[in-house]
Amino acid sequence: MIIDSVEVIPYRIPMRKPLEFASGRVDEIDHVLLRIQTTDGVVGIADIPPRPYTYGETQQSIIAVISTVFAPLLVGMSALDRGAIHRRMHRTVGNFTAKAGVDVALWDIMGQTLQQPVHRLLGGAADSVRVSHMVGFADPLKMVDEAERVREQYGITTFKVKVGRRPFLLDVDVVRALREHFGSAVELYLDANRGWNAAESMRVLDAVSDLDITFFEEPCDAAEILGRRRLVAHSRVPVVADESAPSLADAAREITTGGATAVSVKVARSGFSEAQKILALAEGLGVEAIIGNQIDSQVGTCGSVALAAGVNYAGRHAAELSNFLDMADDLIAEPLQIIDGAITASLQPGLGAKIDEDKLRKYRQDGKGN
Ligand SMILES: [Mg+2]
Repeated sequence: MIIDSVEVIPYRIPMRKPLEFASGRVDEIDHVLLRIQTTDGVVGIADIPPRPYTYGETQQSIIAVISTVFAPLLVGMSALDRGAIHRRMHRTVGNFTAKAGVDVALWDIMGQTLQQPVHRLLGGAADSVRVSHMVGFADPLKMVDEAERVREQYGITTFKVKVGRRPFLLDVDVVRALREHFGSAVELYLDANRGWNAAESMRVLDAVSDLDITFFEEPCDAAEILGRRRLVAHSRVPVVADESAPSLADAAREITTGGATAVSVKVARSGFSEAQKILALAEGLGVEAIIGNQIDSQVGTCGSVALAAGVNYAGRHAAELSNFLDMADDLIAEPLQIIDGAITASLQPGLGAKIDEDKLRKYRQDGKGN
């Protein structure tokens, strides 16, 4: 399992339907495909999503840090020595998704070499994972139609509603419309991506108090320290740290200092290694954890499925695994299937995310394609 080469490939695929939320809008995915090859010919892969509005990373910065900083450190090391590899990478601060991509590719190499699927290496907690679907900004009727279509077509009954608009009654109307349409047949939770301040968030909580909301994610900026704590202290609904808790240390700080009462865990920014630690922290402290989505392609989603199926504590809630439904195409050779509201974990060795080389040639942006 000695690392021989590291390849980073920028690619672009349009969205079938743009996803809009309080902190940004995604019209096309401009991701980076990472391939780490070992001397015995095993190729571990990861899909890396640049999210400049959340982590400050761009497609070009991810390519630069991996090819010029991380790759020279990795070549010649064993993929098994993740501790040493992370120690070396952490000499460079930040770069969450670039580091996570390296970690995911290493686990893929381990799985393929040991001939085991990654979810079993992570703990083998479940064979399949319940899916939560994210509904982006739209009018109430459109959002209800979208949720109904997804429920009918895929059997999904848990919805994360993107909120955070002003005036906030726009979003309250959406949540009320969803609850009135579905009754108690669906679970609803909210993600404001820091769109409101603490006072507005408190008024939103009052306005939706009869609508059975299960989580309230990043209602206001965690950097507004006292406002955030006042909100968390007064909320009956768990307040989820997402972009405020991209690392184990951030999650520990936010949870133990009253900035959050639940945490979103994302493979795309934590890899499997750090995600395992965050889940263990949440379990030990008795706060809920949700497997989140970084607007992942199907290749990226394979990692989230592996984590959600691998770790017991990750299975307490439906995982956000369906953003790829909004994408026009994907690099994956064997598309994921959502059936009866769940995705079955791959039994292929590693991540089970084989790349369609024709599609890679079509979508790659480095001049080596069609
Ligand atoms: Mg979020």
